[in-house]
Amino acid sequence: MLFTTHWMTSIFPNYRGDAQETISIDEITTDSRKKVNHSLFIPIIGDKFDGHKFLEQAIKHGAVATLWSVERDLPEFLPKDFPIFMVEDTVVALQKLANAYRHEINPIVIGITGSNGKTSTKDLVSTVLKSTYRTHFTQGNLNNHLGVPRTILSMGRETEVLVLEMGMNHFGEIELLSNIAEPDYAVITNIGESHIEHLGSREGIAKAKLEIVSGLKDNGRLILDGDERLLQDVQEREKVITCGFQPHNDVTIKNAEVRENQTKFNLDEYTYTIPLLGSHQAQNASYAITLGKLMKIDPETIKESLHNLKMTSMRFEMIIGKNDVSIINDAYNASPTSMKAAIEVIKQMDEYQEKIVILGDIFELGTHSEALHRSVADVIDEQISAILTVGNDSKFISDAAKEKNKQIVSKHYHTKESLIDDLKSYLKKDTLLLFKASRGMEFESIIKEIK
Ligand code: ATP
Ligand code: MG
Repeated sequence: MLFTTHWMTSIFPNYRGDAQETISIDEITTDSRKKVNHSLFIPIIGDKFDGHKFLEQAIKHGAVATLWSVERDLPEFLPKDFPIFMVEDTVVALQKLANAYRHEINPIVIGITGSNGKTSTKDLVSTVLKSTYRTHFTQGNLNNHLGVPRTILSMGRETEVLVLEMGMNHFGEIELLSNIAEPDYAVITNIGESHIEHLGSREGIAKAKLEIVSGLKDNGRLILDGDERLLQDVQEREKVITCGFQPHNDVTIKNAEVRENQTKFNLDEYTYTIPLLGSHQAQNASYAITLGKLMKIDPETIKESLHNLKMTSMRFEMIIGKNDVSIINDAYNASPTSMKAAIEVIKQMDEYQEKIVILGDIFELGTHSEALHRSVADVIDEQISAILTVGNDSKFISDAAKEKNKQIVSKHYHTKESLIDDLKSYLKKDTLLLFKASRGMEFESIIKEIK
């Protein structure tokens, strides 16, 4: 059980039916098609659908109470005494309910935001904390104004630690999520360029991420990327713990190196290994180590949990394709920062004779698109034998790489079909192919062809 309808009456005093009875709610649902016994139905008004039309189906599938917008008529079929809570706006009510439940259970709450590495950090942090505490965490990528409250409302009553990923596209969104979650600890993984279209500049992005302090507890701590200039003069410095590679940080990562399928690094007097590739993942791990220490988990336990990490879904997955070619599929998503990070990772992998990067368009960069695509070429040097781009704006990357280094094989393709044809000559042992593009480029179709 999560809570009872009786408990809900203190949050939503405008109710009808048997709400005062102690009817227990086991789950929240917004989808009437799903069978969920003892659920509270929350009808959401979307662009295409209005959940209020589906109450009858929700009841058939196990709903025992519902929220209801005051702007919608009550359905005629409604069983007499069925508990119904009248609210101005069902989404706001969902968020309010989540906040009330957060107070009711009162776990230690950790909120994680940043341009890149939120899900990775969420996985790293939960892995460390669940060694010692009953830990509930965001499933998959449910990180927005609906996903965060739903994650809160899916934690069991025994939860001691709640780890929440918080995503955003616009100003105000992280502030809202932070006020719902009221974190004891907040993490800003990094500042990149994602969603620059809506936020104007990297300064704008930093400002939007810093909204995470708005709901932070008075005695809370903010853990962040201390190598990022834009996060350096944060207010209330006494709350901040900086992590990074530069020596001025409170927590300094040293000697990060990629070896086969692991990254190894030093922090304090300990050596850690994580089954993830790249120094950026060492940085994400440093947030998890810092939180583990703040929450009194001993370093040996932290080391062991990180070493045995299982990720939500592999983001930097190594597969062997046709003719024993090695393929890194990082095609889940891309931003200029994460694209550069991925290229830096393969530069650290010494066991290949040839390294080829295959890059697609990065979406949502607005008027900055050309400059940001071109900036990816900054990290391409003679360690990369060829750069192949496909789509539209990714052409700026291959063009800039060519201008920088006349020797490099650099080619742009307008279609995936023409790229796949040319790729055939690269499919051989001791060659590494890195694939990266925005989700919408559907790069998995190329990988399927050469696997
Ligand atoms: P989304 O916005 O899609 O939810 P996310 O912030 O949850 O993304 P992850 O899914 O953890 O991010 O990682 C996405 C990609 O970002 C990874 O494949 C990796 O290449 C890159 N990345 C991860 N951590 C960092 C970091 N600290 N700095 C730069 N790039 C990173
Ligand atoms: Mg994510």
